[in-house]
Amino acid sequence: MSTYSVKELLSTDNLQQEVTISGWVKTFRSNRFIALNDGSTIHNLQCVVDFEQIDSTILKEVATGAALTITGTLVESQGKGQQVEIMVDTITVLGSADPEQYPIQPKKHSLEFLREKAHLRVRTNTFSAIMRVRSALSFAVHQYFQKNGFYYVHTPIITGSDAEGAGEMFRVSTLDPKAPPLDDSGEVNYKEDFFGKETNLTVSGQLEAETFAMGLGKVYTFGPTFRAENSNTSRHLAEFWMIEPEVAFNDLAANMDLAEDFIKGVLNYVLENCTDDLTFLEKRLLDEEKTKPQAERSEMPLIEKLKFVANNEFKRVSYTEAIAILKNSKPNKKKKFQYLIEEWGADLQSEHERFLVEKHFKCPVILFDYPAKIKAFYMRLNEDGKTVRAMDVLFPGIGEIVGGSQREERLDVLQDKIKELGIDEKELWWYLDLRRFGTAEHSGFGLGFERLVLFVTGMGNIRDVIPFPRSPQNAEF
Ligand code: ATP
Ligand code: MN
Repeated sequence: MSTYSVKELLSTDNLQQEVTISGWVKTFRSNRFIALNDGSTIHNLQCVVDFEQIDSTILKEVATGAALTITGTLVESQGKGQQVEIMVDTITVLGSADPEQYPIQPKKHSLEFLREKAHLRVRTNTFSAIMRVRSALSFAVHQYFQKNGFYYVHTPIITGSDAEGAGEMFRVSTLDPKAPPLDDSGEVNYKEDFFGKETNLTVSGQLEAETFAMGLGKVYTFGPTFRAENSNTSRHLAEFWMIEPEVAFNDLAANMDLAEDFIKGVLNYVLENCTDDLTFLEKRLLDEEKTKPQAERSEMPLIEKLKFVANNEFKRVSYTEAIAILKNSKPNKKKKFQYLIEEWGADLQSEHERFLVEKHFKCPVILFDYPAKIKAFYMRLNEDGKTVRAMDVLFPGIGEIVGGSQREERLDVLQDKIKELGIDEKELWWYLDLRRFGTAEHSGFGLGFERLVLFVTGMGNIRDVIPFPRSPQNAEF
């Protein structure tokens, strides 16, 4: 007798064989039909019980959530809805689940309720589908880069550089919080801390990835990233996973090409390999949207939207053009934007990004050549002296999914910029060395993995696409 997964049994032609299968009970109907799921697929395996054959004390324990091992014969199904089913010979109850206590009952649970049961929510159809898609997407990320000659680099999680400037940081310290050592001026003396200096959890692996690009050529990071931003939005987490390719000799145009090709590549992978889960998630989204006002519903079903993005060119628009469009837009003239666009130089808010993508262009947009003043210190200054070679990829329903740039490779320009911003040059000595020795044009970007998973699964809140979300006031599990 062989042990199979539900997924294997549902696709086998090998009927009449004796099989063993383990899984959790989804439902048990009419004292006869067990829908069993083992996580291998969104579909359940129907197991048909002859109650005269199975001990009634065992059948009492066959309730939603119980773990079972079943043996029986695989046959062509008599009923509708499945090709094959198992005629049960024996049932072993591995672990029962008291229906009075087990929170995941076969009915609709709100996503909010399930967030509080994050240790059990992966047993629901919605979360098992999301997490299988998430797994496939992360494989697709590695496959894309490995096939295209990139090397995977593990940048540090604890960082000693505080010049990254991408967001608020979480301190890493072993000092006694009640009585930290103080220096002569009464400040905490980090020289006595574990690393002999102030250290934090990384907000980005970019600066370290740049060092590797300057030796390995094409590299990428894919790892955990931490931002202590107190923004309780549906697009921000305190701990998330970021993908950061960095490529020597790439200019901004090549960087945009890479971002677009990469996103399309991973979308095509899941379209080919996650059909069942995406079909389920598409239906879930349609059901959810029925409860929303017409204006908030998306125009395309999920899979069609993914194909649309995978098959159409992203629109490339300069920041300057975007400001002109926004300035003349209806919501700006009618003062519907919370932040009105008045002049060149304004930072774009998510409402503006979403207007451009969802209302104006109706496709993904890459904005480039932003004002230097609103972007990070390391971005390559353009000849106009006021814009930098930055690019953001904006997605429908998501807003910013990618932020990237060509990096400033000229030592003197970078030093001037650092001085202007009041950053201590000593903090960045190793970063500046890259510009001292064998400097070259190079570019890269950061893509928030959870924002990609959000887009692909059609979910609305980033807390529902990571196993155990970390956000302000929330680090249970
Ligand atoms: P935003 O304006 O949305 O806060 P950002 O400009 O701070 O984004 P970057 O510093 O450019 O973002 O980071 C690169 C990418 O990382 C973003 O495009 C986004 O996909 C993702 N990202 C940034 N912050 C978060 C967060 N707190 N949670 C999840 N993903 C994030
Ligand atoms: Mn941010």
